Amino acid sequence: MNKAVDMKNIRAVPLWIDGKHQQASGARSGDVTNPATGRVIGRVPFCNAADIDAAVQSASRAFPAWRDSPPLRRARILMRFRELLDQNKNEFAALITAEHGKTLADAGGSVQRGIEVVEFAMGIPHLVKGEHSEEVGTGVDTHSLRQPLGVCAGITPFNFPIMVPLWMFPVALACGNTFVLKPSEKVPSAAMRMAELLKEAGLPDGVFNVVHGDKEAVDALLNHPGVKAVSFVGSTPIAKYIYETASKNGKRVQALGGAKNHAVVLPDMTASAADLEFTVDGLMGAAYGSAGERCMSISAVVAVGASADPLVAKLKEKASKLKIGAGDGKDMDMGPLVTRAHRDKVAGYVDKGVAEGAKLVLDGRGLKVTEYQDGNFLGASLFDHVKTDMTIYKDEIFGPVLCVLRVDTLDDAIRMINANPYANGTAVFTRSGGAARKFEREIEVGMVGINVPIPVPIAFFSFGGWRNSLFGDQHVHGMEGVRFYTRGKVVTTRWPDANAVPQGFNMPTLG
Ligand code: NAD
Repeated sequence: MNKAVDMKNIRAVPLWIDGKHQQASGARSGDVTNPATGRVIGRVPFCNAADIDAAVQSASRAFPAWRDSPPLRRARILMRFRELLDQNKNEFAALITAEHGKTLADAGGSVQRGIEVVEFAMGIPHLVKGEHSEEVGTGVDTHSLRQPLGVCAGITPFNFPIMVPLWMFPVALACGNTFVLKPSEKVPSAAMRMAELLKEAGLPDGVFNVVHGDKEAVDALLNHPGVKAVSFVGSTPIAKYIYETASKNGKRVQALGGAKNHAVVLPDMTASAADLEFTVDGLMGAAYGSAGERCMSISAVVAVGASADPLVAKLKEKASKLKIGAGDGKDMDMGPLVTRAHRDKVAGYVDKGVAEGAKLVLDGRGLKVTEYQDGNFLGASLFDHVKTDMTIYKDEIFGPVLCVLRVDTLDDAIRMINANPYANGTAVFTRSGGAARKFEREIEVGMVGINVPIPVPIAFFSFGGWRNSLFGDQHVHGMEGVRFYTRGKVVTTRWPDANAVPQGFNMPTLG
């Protein structure tokens, strides 16, 4: 056992099934670690197929009554849940910081963005309204319905313990589905707290369940015949696996994967000191915020023409001044990475970048945070003259490492981004409306920012990438979320009537 384990202070994380805490039946479990101190603070059970079956059975039993409850009643429960989330915002931020490591301010921001999805889902009576056409044929009317699917599963990553689950289940529940959430085993506690608050808000038992674990638990969900749809957010290889396995089993799937997000800077944004400041301020948070552990982080800056030298100089100046320490410290810019293994992997990428010939302008590898010797800290690193065949460009690093690539024209930048296998988010910095419009039209990426470095759409739009950043057809939340969690039905109606057109024997034409 890890030498930092203090058995007295270790929380055993339970499951949430049938509206109450339950114990897993198997013996496997994992440590939950505080990334700043390196201390084990919890133990999370790894569910087996029997545990998953118990959760899916609970959700299946709860489905008929929940499906048949009026959407407005479901919305009212979500309204109360929204209030409880808001009242407990600080507690949630502290939970996220304790298990993930990001700063409290950043954690609080992610809770707020999650709450916005609940606010969107509260509009469900309007969102599932169908269409009606009268007299589509003589005496015949047609209307459409959107109905829930049944038990839906959500499998989520470590980097947004609250926001990413909230991309999924508020919309799924609002549409009349029941839900089984499997949060990342590295950050399991926030999901449990949300389950308790849903119950307090009046959600019937069994409508929302939480299970924990690794591949065994996920595979049991993917193979369970009771699960009708799977939402996944995580790395690309797992997203692809989830999509292929769940689709093969006849389930509807949306599987959001990893990213390599580029920000293009045109020379007009480095011509004045004010625009350079504006651009670099945006890039700093986008590249190093949350220690780069965001799927929408900017990890590649594409400097066009003369923008490169002033940009790199300013990035270096600002990145070397970042305040790095425990996420609950005062005015911190960046906390530790989620695990020691991930920290070492990211540091290994910096080694690789140097070995492959990129110019290391700022080296974060030597950072020591004296009060937290066992924390997973890594300083900000900045590379210049990165080429597209280097590993640090090709791989998703998911840490505080920013690569600058130099190109001659906007067309070169667009070509580079469109050739990258990932296509989650991207941004352009310019004062030229024409250049921004060209970028917006020609770029083949799911989410685009114009002078906005992290263009995460507000909840009433939909979030999702293209190519290897999304497997499936529907993005999360917004109307695509509603479509994902419902299926359409079209009803054609004729009532007996003395003047009715006689029913024919041939293909009906409704004449
Ligand atoms: P991950 O893929 O390792 O894990 C995600 C989930 O899958 C977890 O719940 C985990 O338990 C489960 N899992 C892990 N290995 C599995 C396996 N072999 N079989 C079945 N399930 C498995 O991702 P992570 O490290 O937790 O999160 C970081 C990744 O998530 C990054 O690649 C990041 O870009 C991505 N991400 C993407 C988005 C997006 O919207 N596209 C958002 C957030 C994070």
